[in-house]
Amino acid sequence: MPELWMPGATRHALGNEGTMNGGPARAVWHITSNDSDWTFKNEHGWFTGGGAGVAPHLLWEPFTGEIAQYFPADSRSLSLANAGDVRTNRTGKYCIQIETVFTAGETVGGKKYATVRDTPCKGLDKIVTWLRSLGITDAWPGGAPTAFVRDTVSLSTWLSEGGHYGHNQVPGNSHVDPGPMPNLFAVPVPEATQPVRQPFPGAAWFRKEPRSAIVTAMGRRLVAVGCSAYEDGPGPQWTEADRRSYAKWQRKLGYTGAAADGWPGAKSWAALKVPFVKEV
Ligand SMILES: [Zn+2]
Repeated sequence: MPELWMPGATRHALGNEGTMNGGPARAVWHITSNDSDWTFKNEHGWFTGGGAGVAPHLLWEPFTGEIAQYFPADSRSLSLANAGDVRTNRTGKYCIQIETVFTAGETVGGKKYATVRDTPCKGLDKIVTWLRSLGITDAWPGGAPTAFVRDTVSLSTWLSEGGHYGHNQVPGNSHVDPGPMPNLFAVPVPEATQPVRQPFPGAAWFRKEPRSAIVTAMGRRLVAVGCSAYEDGPGPQWTEADRRSYAKWQRKLGYTGAAADGWPGAKSWAALKVPFVKEV
């Protein structure tokens, strides 16, 4: 089980939890956009007070790295408007919303900052590592946000594709945040902790759709590198979700066409660095 409370975030449970509807896990990025006060303290006071009804999961201060969490990952948070009958806060197995304490054009230490991308982004690595552990894919289904404008994805994209969205891309919403964001996927993936690696079991082995601890170990690495197509698991039984997750990994490595069909090969396996669990 992943951690439902992010390691390194201070925990301020608001209660008022709500269940998720299931489906591909995603994250939604926001900025607080407050012309009158740019401090973490002020926004934290709002979301734990009068603004609790619109609170996100995480409040993140990109200049200091301060992070507060208001809901566990498996609860909906409250920062999105509905799209008709679709309760967007509940879409996916997880829909982690992150409010960045940022206002376009704010001045910090005598310097003016136009976008979140320009800030030091302190603590972003911890957030991305946690989002990957929840199975949130390294992808922007609607493209990375490029400006403070609406760029709404279709409802079917929103419902069927996991990964990262800007608030400006969520159907049924009117806000234009977060504006240009840093490259989230440049955050390095920690090495597999065990020094010994699982040798490639062979292409034919996977075609037999095996049930093995090796499949679980592979799936955990796929989640760690942001290539999850899992809704549950990963587990020991090879399934279509394993194949689709592995295909994401192959595409991340630059393979295309039949070379990215999701059936493991020796080179992509070696690059995945699966820790040793057992002999085949
Ligand atoms: Zn927003």
